[in-house]
Amino acid sequence: MSDSRTELSNLGEFGLIDRISSHFSLKNRSSLKGIGDDAAVIDAGDDVILLSTDMLVEGIHFDLSYMPLQHLGYKAVTVNVSDIAAMNGKPEQVVVALGLSNRFSVEAIDALYDGIRAACANYGVDLVGGDTTASSSGLIISISVVGRTKKGSEVYRSGAKDKDIICVTGDLGGAYIGLQILEREKEVFLANPSMQPELEKHEYAVGRQLRPKARMDIIHELADLGIRPTSMIDVSDGLASELFHLSKNSRIGVHIFEDKIPIDQDAFNTAVEFKLDPFTCALNGGEDYELLFTIRQEDFEKLKNHADIHFIGYVHPDPKQNVLITKGGATVPLKAQGWKHF
Ligand code: ADP
Ligand code: MG
Repeated sequence: MSDSRTELSNLGEFGLIDRISSHFSLKNRSSLKGIGDDAAVIDAGDDVILLSTDMLVEGIHFDLSYMPLQHLGYKAVTVNVSDIAAMNGKPEQVVVALGLSNRFSVEAIDALYDGIRAACANYGVDLVGGDTTASSSGLIISISVVGRTKKGSEVYRSGAKDKDIICVTGDLGGAYIGLQILEREKEVFLANPSMQPELEKHEYAVGRQLRPKARMDIIHELADLGIRPTSMIDVSDGLASELFHLSKNSRIGVHIFEDKIPIDQDAFNTAVEFKLDPFTCALNGGEDYELLFTIRQEDFEKLKNHADIHFIGYVHPDPKQNVLITKGGATVPLKAQGWKHF
């Protein structure tokens, strides 16, 4: 070991993951895909098993002063299911690991598991195990999920091809805008505890932050229509960051039309009220857990009238050219800020 010390912030989250990944290779024939997609892919005969894990840490991912424990439990399952959806799979089992301090009562843990149970019921997932330990630094909830799909039906970040159409579900930016509202109301409350939070007015965005949904409905609909996206990822870090993942993994470029990016009208108005640019929120906000995917042009007819799928751009062959066509018609380089954890 040398004495040199490199700060994590020099690498960033994705640099760190690339570094870890470069030190490992896959040894088992059943390990079809390792680090680098929304879930690992494991050979299971006619099917593939999908495996993914996501951890939520108090003070980093949530603040219990405005995150009810039921919602936290639901969200912790949702973010995992969303990664299985992003592989075009169906979730089947979860295991739940908790780090707890004696700050939490039995009733509080019951509330957390009420949310986990509701999510398991909604997504048709079985809770099959976990781990419980003491934590000295607040609540930690780490969930791993197992999913499945027919071999060959799985969808990677790497399959986008020239001229494919780029699609995104639902609307974007709401979860980030909701977080800004919750943070502001918390400041108001800390300054003057007799003030009641003003959340009703911003119900949509707050709901997007506290109660995100994994888009399994879209996965079922695509299957019913006989459409297999060429590439897919879920929007956890922000549209721009996810587009860069598709670009890097598929070795293609993306051409995105700003005016096609879907933003809910209420969330839009709230952003403006907060002096935030709604499009910046949509591009860089994250936590919306919508699906970003590409389809072949032939499949457009089958999807064009879908109320909740939006066509935001197209794929072109140069991976170095990831551009945004602004509302004013200017072509500018796409920038990804994403979340900086370190
Ligand atoms: P997502 O946002 O879809 O959950 P991440 O950005 O967290 O994906 O992770 C990207 C890829 O890196 C995934 O394949 C994930 O399994 C892998 N990964 C993340 N952290 C680590 C780690 N500490 N060790 C090994 N692999 C990791
Ligand atoms: Mg993901």
